[in-house]
Amino acid sequence: MTFAATVLTLYPEMFPGPLGTSLAGRALREGKWSLQTTQIRDFATDKHRTVDDTPAGGGAGMVLRADILAAAIDSVTDPVPILAMSPRGAPLTQARVRELAAGPGVAILCGRFEGFDERIFAGRAVEPVSIGDYILSGGEMGALVLLDACIRLLPGVMGAALSGDEESFESGLLEYPHYTRPVEWEGRTIPEVLRSGDHARIAAWRKAQAETDTRLRRPDLWERYTGARVQPPSGARHPSEDDKT
Ligand code: SAH
Repeated sequence: MTFAATVLTLYPEMFPGPLGTSLAGRALREGKWSLQTTQIRDFATDKHRTVDDTPAGGGAGMVLRADILAAAIDSVTDPVPILAMSPRGAPLTQARVRELAAGPGVAILCGRFEGFDERIFAGRAVEPVSIGDYILSGGEMGALVLLDACIRLLPGVMGAALSGDEESFESGLLEYPHYTRPVEWEGRTIPEVLRSGDHARIAAWRKAQAETDTRLRRPDLWERYTGARVQPPSGARHPSEDDKT
């Protein structure tokens, strides 16, 4: 089955871009995924091909019009989930990437300027997705990120089929650190355990490293992993309330 990607954008020339190279590029040429771009401007109705207008209520910048976006969205005939790149969306996770990669494909709406008229999210089944807590100038880079994450999971795309399974986030932890030859570099050696050939010790060391690194670098992931935030049963007092009595 071919994973069908459709990108709705004002800049179709940005695609496939980096996804035309390396693993994704080869997979595209081999037909493991397909890519179609839709120029949002083609759905404008005036002679200037206008797609945006000034923000209601005032303020800087321009907003993409809901009626134009809807016409572009309605042109997607594949039965695929439709995502919209937006910093106001749910943060993209490896779990969501896995779901998407297991499906028939995805259509991605790329914003520009100040973003979309909010009514598009009520008027069409569009899922807003963010790639992180920072602002890009447009959704195209986000679409490339999302597609890259999906494509590497498609059957036959990654060289070693197993290499996806131990990655960071797959287990809820960051991945353990890697080393390779030379054994000594600038006075630093590869940890002895990794050279021991003792697979049980190596596995234990890797698990401990993954846990330590996650705890120190990503307390948010660590908290979820350990279930540390135990919700008090309803009606129970929070421990800090005891302090006040
Ligand atoms: N004014 C908006 C930002 C608009 S940036 C706000 O503050 O929420 C222009 C476009 O870039 C957005 O419509 C979106 O498509 C894309 N974009 C910017 N940051 C993004 C992010 N973190 N994740 C996904 N898309 C993003």
